[in-house]
Order: sequence, then C-alpha cells, then structure tokens
Amino acid sequence: MDKKKIIEIIRNAGIIGAGGAGFPTYMKLNANVDTIIINGAECEPLLYKDKEVMRLYPEEMVSGLNIAMELTGAKTGIIALKAKNKEAIPKLQEISKKYKGIRVEIIPDVYPSGDEVVLVYEVTKRIVPPAGIPLQVGCVVSNSETFINIHRAVKNNEAVIYKYLTITGEVKKPITIKVPVGVRIKDILSFAGGVTVSDPVFIDGGPMMGSVVFDENTPVSKTSAGYIVLSKQHPLIIRKTLPQQSTQRIGKSACDQCSYCTEFCPRYLVGHDVRPHAVMRSLGLTGGQYTVNSKYSLLCVECKLCTLFSCPELLYPGETCGISKRELAKQGIRYKLPEGAELKAHPMREFRKVPTKRLIERLKLSDYDVSAHFEEIKFQPNEIFILLAQQIGAACQPLVKIGDAVKQGQMIGKTPDDKLGAAIHSSINGKVVNITDKFIHIKK
Ligand code: SF4
Ligand code: SF4
Repeated sequence: MDKKKIIEIIRNAGIIGAGGAGFPTYMKLNANVDTIIINGAECEPLLYKDKEVMRLYPEEMVSGLNIAMELTGAKTGIIALKAKNKEAIPKLQEISKKYKGIRVEIIPDVYPSGDEVVLVYEVTKRIVPPAGIPLQVGCVVSNSETFINIHRAVKNNEAVIYKYLTITGEVKKPITIKVPVGVRIKDILSFAGGVTVSDPVFIDGGPMMGSVVFDENTPVSKTSAGYIVLSKQHPLIIRKTLPQQSTQRIGKSACDQCSYCTEFCPRYLVGHDVRPHAVMRSLGLTGGQYTVNSKYSLLCVECKLCTLFSCPELLYPGETCGISKRELAKQGIRYKLPEGAELKAHPMREFRKVPTKRLIERLKLSDYDVSAHFEEIKFQPNEIFILLAQQIGAACQPLVKIGDAVKQGQMIGKTPDDKLGAAIHSSINGKVVNITDKFIHIKK
C-alpha cells in the first residue's frame, strides 16, 4: 500500500491522540521526521490505562510504531515509559529487537513527564521551539493507545470504537476497562463496584489537567483516559471548581512574588520563557477589572503544576496564565522568539523534577493510590452518544439521519476533507434516534 492510502485509512478510522489531546493522527504522520516517540509516560496520577495497554498489547503497539516510522521516514522509534511498567518493559525490549531502530527508553516518574515538549527533551535532548511543535525538531509524539489503534486500522481495518480507561477514586474496585465510545459515565460505574460517596463528581482525565464533570450522563469520548470519582467536598474538587473571580481576587491580594511557580515550571525549565510569577505580578497591578495581560503567560501549557504543587500560598498561577493567554490571543498577540535568542534548558532542571508520589500526597489523593488492573468485560450498552467534536480541528458533520439503522463500526460522521479533523463511528448496532449540534444518539 502506498503512503497516501495508509494515511487515508488512518484518517477514516477516526484515529486521534488517545492520551487526551485529540490531535488527528493522520496529520502527524503525513510529515517527514527522523524520530517517532511513543508517549507511555502516563504522568497524570492514578491513571493506569497506558500501563495496562502497554502490558497487554505490546506487539500491536510496536507494529503501530513501525507503521508510523515507515510513513514518516523515521529511522528511530522510541518507546518512552517509566520503570514502574515492570511487566511491559521486558516484553517491549524483546519485541523491539525484531525491528530496526526501535528502542525502549526509561523516563523518570515525575510530573509532567508526558508533556510532549518535556518528553522530547527527556529522550532526545532537543528543545521544541517555544510555541512550536515536536515536528520542528524532527519528532512526532503520540500516546501508546494511539499506536495500537494505528496497527488495528492498517492491519485489521478496525475503526476506533472502543476506549481504554481507568475508573478509580471513590469506587469499590478501581479498574481499567475497554468500553464502547459514546457510553455514558453512569453506565460504566458498576464495573468499578459502584461509587462509595453520596455526592460524587468525576474528574475526566487526570487530577492535574482533567476537568470536573458533574453530570454522569456525560459520554466517553476517544480522548477519555479515565474518571476519578471524588466527593464534591474533596479539597482537590474545591480547588478545581473555585469560580474564576475568586481565584483572581485571592491572587491579587496574596501573591508574595516568591517565584516558586516559575522555578518549578516544567516549560520554563526546558528553556521556554514562561514566568507565572510575572503573570501574577501583572494580576496584582491591574485595576478593578479581572483582566490580566502578560506576555509571560503565552507559553504556558496549563499543566497546573504551579497551582497544585509549587505555590506555597495555594494560589492559581496556572489558571491566571490561562486567562492571560486567552486574552492575548483575542488581541492577536502571539509569542515570538527574540532574534538571536538561544534556547537552553535550565541548569537546575534535573533537581527540580516533581516526583509523582509527592504530587499525589500534595493533592490529598494517597488513599486512592492503588492499582487499577485491566479486566475484560463483555458489554454492549443499550444506547450511545457519539460526540461530533472529539478532536482538535473542525467538528464532524453527520453522515446519517434520524431513523437510520447503523452497524457497529460504521462511519456516522466526518470532518470535511479540506479541514483538519477525523471521522466518528457507531460503537453499537442500532438506530439513530436523535442528532444535535453536539452528538449523535443511537439506540439498540
Ligand atoms: S508561587 Fe504563589 S506566591 Fe509565589 S510567586 Fe507564584 S503565585 Fe505568587
Ligand atoms: S501551568 Fe504553571 S507550571 Fe504549568 S506550564 Fe503553565 S505556568 Fe508552567
């Protein structure tokens, strides 16, 4: 098969970054690079889906990596994962021997080792330019599950209709499972033995960057990595749901400019000019309006390490950077590397990495720091809600209408060919009962 045909298969299979970002994979692979990196860092605490898929499907994942290398012309394939993946490492080392140029690289168990700029630096020592992408330094980075999806699409003609995810936190039995895309949270909680608090909320993704979901009718998307069930009263939920006006009011009055937020910022430490303490200073100096504009926010990736770990005053520098960054974007202001500037990682970087264990303690999540092993569950929901916008780029346009019968695996929506996006598929056999601007509802 030629490259164009394979790229088309990957696009039509609806493959997008499965780690949370959702960037369409066909676009990443339609490039020439020298290195492909499997991101197996899974740096968000308490999630286990990457650990489990790397342990269970190492052959498929490495095959997917090899396909990606052939498509992009890459001579090097790096499988980046942590030493705690004890079962996966020897399997992957053995399988890698069958392929030329593929190696396993052990990365430290710190947060956010899965941030692609941090990961590229960790395994290649190349610095992705500020506001740039790994492609600019000859790399493509994708999540481990994405490579399994590449293998399954190219070798078995399978579209992405299942998602691996972890359910943990306030549940009887933390678990990692494979579920049909589009199933609602409430339909899968029983696989974790049910919820153990009376006022549950769900963090969609990890505790650091995941958003708090209050509605258990929310459907699983292709980017969902897991759900952490917590009480509404858990300190992390209280911190994550504080209204923006309050976070900004507290920040204006309480920041003492210690600059710990900057000194631990992972992007600052790889040489990007992001300085949350300077953004907080701007906040303190703005008038009565809660608008802050600081160019030092432009390169923030909103990993929230500054908010949830570094700041001794429990302020919100990460959120403030996000607000400032969006305000500047509205004004059309973008980051520009000053002429002649040299990119260099901070000399103290190695000593300022934040171990995941310490982060878990700081987040008051130690009680939930338990394994969530994979269990194969045969499960076909009675109804699904397939979101039209699961990926970066344009939303999908429905290819079906109300009343249509659909088959499992059938393409039911697609982004127009001239736009960045992906396809979506039905994960069950059924009938289309509703189509809104957000989702396609299918019932058995
Ligand atoms: S760490 Fe907190 S108190 Fe210190 S400069 Fe940053 S926001 Fe201000
Ligand atoms: S959220 Fe904070 S620590 Fe993370 S990139 Fe932004 S400024 Fe740096």
